[in-house]
Amino acid sequence: MTDHIETDVVIIGAGPVGLFAVFELGLLDIKCHLIDILPKVGGQCAELYPEKPIYDIPGFPMVTGQGLVDNLMAQIEPFNPTFHLNEMVESLESIGTPEAPLFRVKTSENDTTFVCKAVIIAAGGGSFQPKKPPIDNIEAYEGTSVFYAVRKMEMFRNKKVLIVGGGDSALDWTVNLQPIAKRLTLLHRRDAFRAAPHTVEKMRSLVASGEMDLHLGQVSALKGRNHVLEGAVIRKDDGSEHLVDCDVMLPFFGLTMKLGPIADWGLNLHENLVPVDTEKFETNVPGIFAIGDINTYPGKLKLILSGFHEGALAAQKVHRYVYPEKKLLFQYTTSSTSLQKKLGVA
Ligand code: FAD
Repeated sequence: MTDHIETDVVIIGAGPVGLFAVFELGLLDIKCHLIDILPKVGGQCAELYPEKPIYDIPGFPMVTGQGLVDNLMAQIEPFNPTFHLNEMVESLESIGTPEAPLFRVKTSENDTTFVCKAVIIAAGGGSFQPKKPPIDNIEAYEGTSVFYAVRKMEMFRNKKVLIVGGGDSALDWTVNLQPIAKRLTLLHRRDAFRAAPHTVEKMRSLVASGEMDLHLGQVSALKGRNHVLEGAVIRKDDGSEHLVDCDVMLPFFGLTMKLGPIADWGLNLHENLVPVDTEKFETNVPGIFAIGDINTYPGKLKLILSGFHEGALAAQKVHRYVYPEKKLLFQYTTSSTSLQKKLGVA
């Protein structure tokens, strides 16, 4: 039994550019796994502007961020890629030679290890990481009583849950966790919420029927022992303070993008971006490619269409590492029956 996953290519980042790379690799019979720290695919398009229109995707006069992601998912379906969401790629180690590259890739959350012949970094502006509230000693409770994301709802069954925030995540988790929590409290700075109106309405009706609590103010201190939370001190606008009983706190203050572990992988970096050549979009390490917003080269435009082009060219070179003995034939999807078979349309 192996304790690692073997595949041709690991794609780091399931944003639009990582997703389209699956298509270009798939046409060349190259299998891949995609890893993303977010719980969903689509990168910035899905996380930052799902409902905003994009007007400069070739062939789509207008498509929303989420609409583009949905179409990309439909386009790559024939290649059946495996997604590992909620996992951050922590380490990337070269275990081959420049002529025959081989890599070991490890993630943090589930400790998954991959061994692959090439790595495509499509990590955008870096990994999305939670913004943390400025509370003294909050780190002492992280991972035991303070969580910035809900990985498994069951973890919160019968707990006294304090959710902090006023956006979509805070409100969605309020209405989703309220039925299983022992008691749920929502805390926000003011009595106005930036979330879907029906979710806000649902929260207000739960408060009105006494099934949950809503407090206005900010957490000024945490009380607990041995990394286990017992309560949070809430400070109101008028300066008064009171204690809310809680076993867990879930702050939802939005996400920020950080380069993260990529800085430790032995790659050349230029202002937090990965320099590549413009023939293959390969980095200074043979077998490691960088496409999309994460890379830099003379004339680079941080546009989705540039990332699509970069993925197509990177796939050509990846083919040489995965099938060193095979010659690559240039083919059109319109006229090649072999490509159409791969797409399941012939
Ligand atoms: P991203 O979309 O950033 O995706 C990268 C993914 O990698 C993320 O999901 C991240 O979580 C993941 N990741 C990073 N590091 C790790 C790690 N170590 N482990 C696991 N996962 C990791 N572009 C256009 O072309 N047209 C537009 O009209 C347009 N409008 C925009 C509007 C807004 C408001 C914004 C913010 C951007 C806009 N852009 C637009 C830019 C466009 O969204 C980006 O160019 C595009 O998302 C880049 O795609 P990507 O796949 O390279 O990176």
